[in-house]
This record gives sequence, structure tokens and C-alpha cells, in this order.
Amino acid sequence: SYMSICTDRLFKVLVIGDVGVGKSSIILRYVKRDFSENYKPSIGVDFALKTVEWDPNTVVRLQFWDIAGQERFKKMSRVFYKAAMGALVVFDITDSSSFEGASEWKRDLDSKVCLNSGCPIPAVLLANKCDLAGQARDLDKFCKDNSFLGWFETSAKDNINVEEAGAFLVKHMMRCD
Ligand code: GDP
Repeated sequence: SYMSICTDRLFKVLVIGDVGVGKSSIILRYVKRDFSENYKPSIGVDFALKTVEWDPNTVVRLQFWDIAGQERFKKMSRVFYKAAMGALVVFDITDSSSFEGASEWKRDLDSKVCLNSGCPIPAVLLANKCDLAGQARDLDKFCKDNSFLGWFETSAKDNINVEEAGAFLVKHMMRCD
């Protein structure tokens, strides 16, 4: 008989950014395909697991770590970052201070975790709540300067680009070990 060789990959993915930017909502949208105006996980780190059939031979499990309620320090402990393989850094396009927060979060991330190669872990910038405002500014240069792989305008509410951003991150995490 023939047996296919199946690979099972587990990735720890951090979701970071200022309070209220939509981190929990993005996780809820991506993992449970849902949105709620008043969804709020318990205080502390919230976990969610999403399974993706990446290809016929590969199952990818994404373990999302949300920093629920710890944002005011704009930094997290090394324990939180440990062994993370990817990150979504979120800001709210209607709140410019959360955009500045995004680069602070990225700096904190890169100072506390990196790949075995020494490279920064794959990180994607999410300009969330795009349903509330017009076109976001071009963030290509910002991404280059802050070593993000790329950026997406997202809406957890209207289900815009959340799936795409997740797939983009997975594609890059699959390339580094
Ligand atoms: P967190 O503190 O970063 O986890 O943010 P939440 O996920 O709790 O979201 C904060 C508020 O923004 C909540 O009232 C959400 O319903 C709302 N929200 C989150 N994402 C979106 C979005 O894409 N569009 C809009 N209009 N509201 C959003």
C-alpha cells in the first residue's frame, strides 16, 4: 500500500499592537470567521489555534498569542516572545498614535526574539479598520525601514484581507526554520 508523507507544522504567531487596534477581532475573524462588537478575551494572554491544510501533504497549525490587556507597556516579556515564528503587528488607520506604536512594538519584538539565523522573525504589518477610512498611505518604505515583510489594509469587521495576510505570513514562515 502507498502511504503519503504528511508533515505537521506548528507555528507560534504573536499578535501585537496598541490597545483597541483590533488584535482580538483579527484573531476571531481569522480563526473563527466571525466578528463581534463586544468580543473581549479574558485579561492576560489569550490563545487561539487555527489549522490550515497548506497542501495535500502539509498541515499547518497556527497558535495565536494575543496580548489582551497588557498593551499599555508597549513591550512584553521575553517569555511571551519565546519561540515565536511569526508576528502580526496591528495598528488602527484612524488612530495615528497606534501607527507610531507599531514601530515601537516591532522594535520590542526584534530585540527579544529572532530566528536561529539571527534574522528577524517574519512580521506583517496590518493597517486595520480600513472600513472606516479611505486609502491608507503607502507603507512600503515604512515596512522596509522597520523590516516588515509587507503590509495589508485589513478590516476584521468587513472581512477584508485578513485571510490574505494570514496566508502571506504562513508562506514566509514555511520558508524559515
Ligand atoms: P484589541 O484591544 O487590539 O484586541 O482590539 P479589539 O479587537 O478588542 O477591537 C477594539 C474595538 O475595535 C472593538 O470595538 C472592535 O469591535 C473594533 N474593531 C476591531 N476591528 C475592527 C475593524 O476592522 N473595523 C471596525 N470598524 N471596528 C473594528
